[in-house]
Parts: sequence; structure tokens; C-alpha cells
Amino acid sequence: MVQKVEKIWLDGQMIPWDEAKVHVLTHTLHYGMGVFEGIRCYEGEDGKSAIFRLQEHIDRLYDSAHILLMKIPFEKVQIMEACQDIFRVNKLKSGYLRPLVFIGDGAMGLYATSNPIRVAIIAWNWGTYLGDEGVKNGIRVKVSSYTRHHVNIMMTKSKAVANYVNSILAKREAMLAGYDETIMLDPQGYVAEASGENLFFVKNGKIFTPPTTSALQGITRETVMILLKEAGLEVQEKFFSRDELYTADEIFLTGTAAEITPVREVDHRQVGPGKPGPVTQKVQKEFFDLVKGRSKKHSEWLAYL
Ligand code: PMP
Repeated sequence: MVQKVEKIWLDGQMIPWDEAKVHVLTHTLHYGMGVFEGIRCYEGEDGKSAIFRLQEHIDRLYDSAHILLMKIPFEKVQIMEACQDIFRVNKLKSGYLRPLVFIGDGAMGLYATSNPIRVAIIAWNWGTYLGDEGVKNGIRVKVSSYTRHHVNIMMTKSKAVANYVNSILAKREAMLAGYDETIMLDPQGYVAEASGENLFFVKNGKIFTPPTTSALQGITRETVMILLKEAGLEVQEKFFSRDELYTADEIFLTGTAAEITPVREVDHRQVGPGKPGPVTQKVQKEFFDLVKGRSKKHSEWLAYL
């Protein structure tokens, strides 16, 4: 259950949590035309809180909306201010932030271009997405029977609400079968991403990730690639098949919610020694040092409250 806080920002107003309701004719509820973001705010050891890569997340939100022909009726700066305010008014020192852009009620039917474009911004406390144990020791994953989106069926560069039916089906399939997470293949059969994370693997000291053709252009993925490059480790983008994962030395997933989560088993094949390897541990350390303000690198990525 999401832990309730005091206020939600809806269409420009801070309103009480319980009053943030929509009509059942809300267009997005019927057809899934909406876009969203998932962002984290971390409290540093100095007690200061900062939202991680707020600008990049808001840029992606506007790009996602633009791809879906939705015009957000606010300036980016207003949305960014609201994202910071929602933590302040709710006295949250850290947590997860969810801007959601949706089509309101008015006309029904698919065209419905005159319905209002609405924006909600919600913040709540959220611990590790794939579990503390998973972040520490690694998770077990299964390759999905569901295929990731074809680039001309869903708009894969848009973080669109409707794209997540595919993710939820895959996630549920894997969890019902006793795994922690799922890996999805693209329509050509190459590894794309997990249900809500990008994927990296290490083999003989080289680091690989799939191109973001079917996969979301993850902001954590980009962060990791920059951090590794700065540490003298280049990540190569390439298409690869599921069996390359079976013989990988290390695999890890990246995402705002999942942060950096090691994978210790794929389809019953143990990955490397079955515990997080040196590259994964290095990425975890660099990432958490950065988001918690312990490192002096990339202070431009931290939007302090
Ligand atoms: N892929 C999918 C399908 C996702 O939902 C997410 C989470 N937004 C990611 C990858 C990782 O993206 P990011 O690092 O920007 O959170």
C-alpha cells in the first residue's frame, strides 16, 4: 500500500490527498493514452534532500507527451517547481515522485482532441523496488513469453501508460512462476530490457547493454554509462540473444525504482558465481555515492529541495 501523505498537486493546485479524484469518464482510464515519470529524491548524509536528474526526467515527460500528441498545459519550470514543492509540503525528506499526464473527461471515442490534458504530481515514501535482499545479493529472473513492443506498434521512446500492460503481463507471469523479475525480448528475439528496468551484462571484462530500440531510454542507464566511462570502462551497445545472458559473468538491472539490482540467476542458470560481481558492485557504489550526495561528481544532477 502506498503510504498516504497530506497533499497531491493536481492541475496547478495542492489539494488534500483524499480529494485527488477523477471522473470515471476520464479518457486515459478507458484507452491508456497518458504519460508519466518515475523519479527519486534522496536524503544525503548531511540531511539535505535532492531530486535525482529532475531536469532529464521532466524533459522525457514532455518528449513522451509530444510523441503522443498531448500538449502539457504548463511550462517545464512550473512542473519542476511543483515536483520540489510536493516533497516540501508533505515534509518528505526522500521518496518516489510520480508526475502523470492524462486526458480528462469530455468526449468519448478515440479522437477526443478537445478533452483537457491534466497533470498530477504525487510523492510518497518508497523503499527498494526489488527488495533490500535483491539489491544486496541479486535477484532471480525469467525470460518472458511476452515480447517487448515493436517500434511501430507502441511508441517505445514515450513512457506511455499503455506501454505498461505489456510490462505488467510479463512481470506477473514471472512472479507467479516464483521469480523476482522478467527479461523481455524484442520482436526479433534479442534481449530488450526488464519489465521496468534496463539491463547490462559483463563478459570477460567487457560491459554490454542492448540499444534502446524497443527499450526505454533509461536515465539510470545513461547515468551508469557516464559513470563507467569516467572510470575508464566503456559500455558497448549491441544486440544479443538470451543465451549470451546464460554465460555472462555478471548481469545487473538499472532503473529509478530498482536502482542498481544485480541478477544472480536467469532461467535456472546461475550467473557467474551467483553473487554480485566486481563491476556490479562498483556501479552500485558509484551510483549510491552520487545520489546520496557523498560524491562530488555531477552535482548538476541533484536538484536540492
Ligand atoms: N525500462 C522500463 C520499461 C521502465 O519502466 C523503466 C523505468 N522508468 C526503465 C527502463 C528505466 O528507466 P529510468 O532509469 O529512467 O528509470
